[in-house]
Amino acid sequence: MTFTVHGLAVSRGIAIGRAVIVAASRMDVAHYFVKADQVETEIERLRNARRVVVEEIGRVQQSLAELGPSDAHPELAALLDVHLMLLQDEQLTSGVKHWIVDRHYNAEWALTTQLEVIGRQFDEMEDPYLRERKADLEQVVERMLRVMRGVASPVAAPAPAPARAKEAASESAADAPLVLIAHDLSPADMLQFKQSVFAGFVTDVGGKTSHTAIVARSMDIPAVVGARSASHLINQDDWVIIDGDAGVVVVDPSPILLAEYGFKQRQGEVERERLSRLKNTPAVTLDGQKIELLANIEQPDDAAAALKAGAVGVGLFRTEFLFMGRNGKLPDEEEQYQAYRRAVEGMQGLPVTIRTVDVGADKPLDRAPVRAGEDHLNPALGLRAIRWSLADPAMFLAQLRAILRAAAHGPVNLLIPMLAHASEIHQTLTLVEKARGQLESRGQAHGLVRLGAMIEVPAAALTIPLFLRHFDYLSVGTNDLIQYTLAIDRADEAVSHLYDPVHPAVLHLLASTISQARVAGKGVSVCGEMAGDVGMTRLLLGLGLRSFSMHPSQILAVKQQILRCDTGKLATWAQTVLAAEDPAALMAD
Ligand code: PEP
Ligand code: MG
Repeated sequence: MTFTVHGLAVSRGIAIGRAVIVAASRMDVAHYFVKADQVETEIERLRNARRVVVEEIGRVQQSLAELGPSDAHPELAALLDVHLMLLQDEQLTSGVKHWIVDRHYNAEWALTTQLEVIGRQFDEMEDPYLRERKADLEQVVERMLRVMRGVASPVAAPAPAPARAKEAASESAADAPLVLIAHDLSPADMLQFKQSVFAGFVTDVGGKTSHTAIVARSMDIPAVVGARSASHLINQDDWVIIDGDAGVVVVDPSPILLAEYGFKQRQGEVERERLSRLKNTPAVTLDGQKIELLANIEQPDDAAAALKAGAVGVGLFRTEFLFMGRNGKLPDEEEQYQAYRRAVEGMQGLPVTIRTVDVGADKPLDRAPVRAGEDHLNPALGLRAIRWSLADPAMFLAQLRAILRAAAHGPVNLLIPMLAHASEIHQTLTLVEKARGQLESRGQAHGLVRLGAMIEVPAAALTIPLFLRHFDYLSVGTNDLIQYTLAIDRADEAVSHLYDPVHPAVLHLLASTISQARVAGKGVSVCGEMAGDVGMTRLLLGLGLRSFSMHPSQILAVKQQILRCDTGKLATWAQTVLAAEDPAALMAD
């Protein structure tokens, strides 16, 4: 039966495919397709894992039997019997085989998919004893996964995902696209799925400018977040339509709906095709104002997408993605240098703005909160971004040296996130000089950088002259500026209706930041999601903004808007919006 789930639209377009429900605890399991001739090998890996676990259990049973009756643990013996029974369970075995044979999932993915299917059946059982057996099943699967992790896959090292997906699709009988449905995805999980087989994403939680949503947007595939109980309502393998423009998920669609959305999907493709013709058109307004359109990137390889979209540089490289999902083992100076250098070289002489690490808030290093055991604290107000860097000067210096070294290969702007205090500015500048001194005494090549500050805390936006004295340029992080001005957690879908980019308080901070920087003759850009929202382009131009940084996928649509604008007329209109009690009401004028 068809039903719809509503959430927040975060990444445009329509995806139609079969649902893959991934539990939070299974995010780290590899998801890839295997070729037809590797299916048997995958099944053998599973059989082997099961055999190893059965033998392990057998050994424990044996040692229990060797204990005297007084030392025996009857509950443990019973539990082991249950585990053995679950391992032989027909539904588990044949279900897993189905995902491998019919869908070409790799063994681990097939196993966790079937676990999810059976787990739901356990959840629905009336008998509490049987319901609790779900935990046993999870343990058994975990043991098999551990065995498979330890035993190298005989499958050749996975090729890049898009190629794999295409290859498999051409061979597979069931070549429907897949869409991922999860309760939550951390930004690091999302990044892991960047090179994956999924054509769309839905999560139960998350706000429009949560970092998970930001990464989804950077992948340029349809996504809906904050869809509440989608991961419970949707079943494994259900047909699903994700409408990333409307924030709607249609489950088990009727043929008529499928045809309708299929048509919309094709229309979207035609529109993209049309926009792509603007790639080499200069971004100049009707009244001759040149507008700088820059790209936001998360990884060095994203430089290619930036160039493809016609970006004239990178306005924000979020370096924290190099630090995430590594079990606390941070990248050293050399690894960072290589990554930054790749981004700089990838941009072929165009400037790259490298932001120092911004972990914390909704960007934990790993899945756990930044500081384990302290999750009752509010991480958005805690040791985040520059605060985290200044708390560990050795780590920060390593990053600064890596960035300065990368600057020997092309133009680099250094950008510091979340500054609020003069003392933080002074400490940062001192450390930048120290890093440079260290490179000089090592005799290591490095380059000059322009120094910029992110304006994303109201305290910073209210003390712009301080920032203009010390920095070459400013970059407004509207995602956080809105969050901190309105006291709305950007990652919390429960308050997402209050997350208002055109709240008068936000607009005043934004307008005064832009105008003060311009009066001082310093560069100012916006690199928050507002910059890539075509609904905001006119207002930002009217407020005097001439430099926008956004995901490559949004650049051409924003450019199209710019080509139709007259900044003189917009400046007058923007003043009325600024003075309005309800600016949103004037936005359509
Ligand atoms: C912002 O806050 O607007 C910004 C660009 O930084 P991030 O989204 O990474 O916090
Ligand atoms: Mg920010």
